[in-house]
Amino acid sequence: MRVTAYRFSMWTRISAILLIFAILAPLCGCEAKSPKSQSVEFFTMDTVMELTAYGKNAGTALHAAQAEIIRLDRLLSISDPESEIYRANRDGFAELSGDTAALVRESLALYELTGGAFDITVYPLMDAWGFYSDEYRLPSDEERARLAGLVGSDRLALEGDALTLPEPGMGIDLGGIAKGYASDRAAETLADNGVASALISLGGNIVALGSKPDGMPWRVAIRDPLDENAFSGIVRVTDTAVVTSGGYERCFELDGKSYHHILDPATGLPARNGLISVTIICESGILADGLSTALYVMGEEKALAFWRAHLELFDAVLVTDDGRVLVTSGIAEAFSSERDFEVVR
Ligand code: ADP
Ligand code: MG
Repeated sequence: MRVTAYRFSMWTRISAILLIFAILAPLCGCEAKSPKSQSVEFFTMDTVMELTAYGKNAGTALHAAQAEIIRLDRLLSISDPESEIYRANRDGFAELSGDTAALVRESLALYELTGGAFDITVYPLMDAWGFYSDEYRLPSDEERARLAGLVGSDRLALEGDALTLPEPGMGIDLGGIAKGYASDRAAETLADNGVASALISLGGNIVALGSKPDGMPWRVAIRDPLDENAFSGIVRVTDTAVVTSGGYERCFELDGKSYHHILDPATGLPARNGLISVTIICESGILADGLSTALYVMGEEKALAFWRAHLELFDAVLVTDDGRVLVTSGIAEAFSSERDFEVVR
């Protein structure tokens, strides 16, 4: 058996997942008035993060936002023995702090909303596939069937901030939502520190705070899932999150077949339901992150039905495994692409 793991280098990840265009008004003669940007770049939550902010207090604000993200990583990490999630998984019980409890509560709401497509109790399955140890393997049908008995967020009990995992072997993994939450908290921290214009990029999770300093919307590029140097399109946004889930982000190859890190809780297998990239566009980073994972699991038909039932909540750009780009009508005006795309109504 030949196992090849793919985890892209820092630079490939940052340039390939989403490219950000901050084009300052070139022709209107207002360059001199545009404030300078400041940036910080760091690696946490297994991701290259880059925060860019404008304005007088940008430097202080950026450092506060970076500290906030690192604080959240310490609470939520699956592998750090000091984290709340690690202890909850080890002991089957934990008294959670406010942030972690809020995230678990949001995850339970998303489990309900998405009919179980978003399910943080995939932990034992993720473990069985080797995603935590990087020792990738293919769990047998029998093993997956046995582990299915440990999966299901409806079995978690969250009373106040006390979380109970009722059965030994159960566990939770907030990886499908943690970066979204961190991006929202980073945006709040920047705003609290007087920043009105910033771009937060946590791997495939982008949050635009305000507009560009010249008043124009931010332009966020969605990478082509089949070509890390190309785009599926660009969205223009203000005060909005743009979050992409793609099977290409973390995957391994075994005997010539590729397996990725977004699991279908119904089968215990990497989701292969016709979509290879899902981008969610909405105000909340945490909702965008959770839904990007969930719609990837749902596949084209269910994802579009879900959008039609909840179009007040979000918009989406879907890329199918046969190469179509589907854009929901609410974002179509703000979307552009050199390729053909279909507007979904
Ligand atoms: P990324 O973390 O690469 O940006 P996602 O936001 O789609 O991508 O999250 C994938 C992560 O979510 C996995 O690494 C795992 O931690 C977790 N996960 C996998 N499948 C599910 C699922 N069906 N529901 C909730 N979380 C999941
Ligand atoms: Mg997600």
